[in-house]
Amino acid sequence: MDFKEEALKVKEDLIADIQTLCRIPSVLDPATAKEGQPFGQGCREALDCMLAFGRRDGFEVKDVDGYAGHIDIGEGDEVIGVLGHLDVVPVNAEGWIYPPFSCTLKDNILYGRGTSDDKGPTLAAYYAAKIIHDLKLPTKKKIRIIFGCDEESGSRCMKHYFSKEPYPQWAFTPDAGFPVCYGEKSGCGYTISGDCPEEGLLSFKAGQRVNIVPETAEAIVVGELSDFSDSFEAFKQKYGVGGSLEEKHGQVRITLIGKSAHASTPDLGKNAIVYLAQYLNEVIDHPVSRFIDDYFRDDNHARRLGFYFNGAMGEITCNVGIIDYEQGHVRIQLDLRCPHDMNFDDMQCCIVKAIKPMGWTEEHHIGPYLFVDPESELITTLHQAYVKYTHDEQAKPVTMGGGTYAKSMPNTCVAFGMEFPGSPNAIHENNEILRVDELMLGVAIYAEALYHLVK
Ligand SMILES: [Zn+2]
Repeated sequence: MDFKEEALKVKEDLIADIQTLCRIPSVLDPATAKEGQPFGQGCREALDCMLAFGRRDGFEVKDVDGYAGHIDIGEGDEVIGVLGHLDVVPVNAEGWIYPPFSCTLKDNILYGRGTSDDKGPTLAAYYAAKIIHDLKLPTKKKIRIIFGCDEESGSRCMKHYFSKEPYPQWAFTPDAGFPVCYGEKSGCGYTISGDCPEEGLLSFKAGQRVNIVPETAEAIVVGELSDFSDSFEAFKQKYGVGGSLEEKHGQVRITLIGKSAHASTPDLGKNAIVYLAQYLNEVIDHPVSRFIDDYFRDDNHARRLGFYFNGAMGEITCNVGIIDYEQGHVRIQLDLRCPHDMNFDDMQCCIVKAIKPMGWTEEHHIGPYLFVDPESELITTLHQAYVKYTHDEQAKPVTMGGGTYAKSMPNTCVAFGMEFPGSPNAIHENNEILRVDELMLGVAIYAEALYHLVK
């Protein structure tokens, strides 16, 4: 069966449906939340739109209290699921080539919020299931396309959905990348706080969100410009970072500019907090900068803290996401992505040991993880479907530090597409795109995978 050929036959219809769905600004909006639309009006409209597609095509649909819904395709007691999401992240007012909710098609590329994350991929999987159905291929199981409305803000939708509906036997979520992701690390957070003297360092601030490697950090120190200008220039040169100094009333404001990245891939960034602490530690003596420099310099993997781990899911990562030091009080927030087979007690002991001499305290949370045997039938089936239509034998199943809907199921769901290796789609950024060629390839891969799972 050549599903690529079948995908091309539905190309126009699929693009039209993606445009209809992406023109709904389904951003979380508590102001319009009410019974039946817990995430606001936009999400409710997107859910109605998706349910209407299913009804139009003659399938059974279900609305689960406005949190999520599903479309059932085919017959069978056992169910293979697809978990997509219809909510999108907010947009910047500036910086878009085409209006973010216009879903403009230009030169074989769809531009708009939600095209790749995650409305386009959700519809690609829906059309894949529809192709299998319309071809009347022999199947033993039902395909259930499940769609939620709160993936971007904590996945309360799936929690509610699975409190009412059974888990599918197996599922995938088209909300990450190909080839296939068999493990998602546990997302852990630590908030360290306490008092320390104000001497020499008046403030040290950086970071808005703990899950981002901070690009900019700022400190205010006592002194004058000439105390710092030569050493700061030399430091910037040596470490390839940016920044500036500004003097006012016997105080100098030091701004350091590194490079932002997602907290799950900290090696792609340059953490401005850590670099600024390193610089400060060269020119002043203060417990806050010393602590950060001691435990985080050149190290995004908890080596200096003493609990480095590299397991079946790869390395632990550690991001110093936020610092807020002022008036003798400090708060430091860490975002850790932990392989499931590491020793979590050891992590706790090491962090407590590091902060004890400072007299600081910590609060933490340990998030869920996902791990499916990379040799399992689910992973090999999905991977082979990818290889069949891409001929890409190089890209192997991966793990990641980010989290998807896959964690909503008990290790029976994995992330599968629809971003292709080396072909980013500006997800969560301005000018999010979906390339039509890749969309068609995605439909073929999903149809191949679903057919193997239900036949
Ligand atoms: Zn997504």
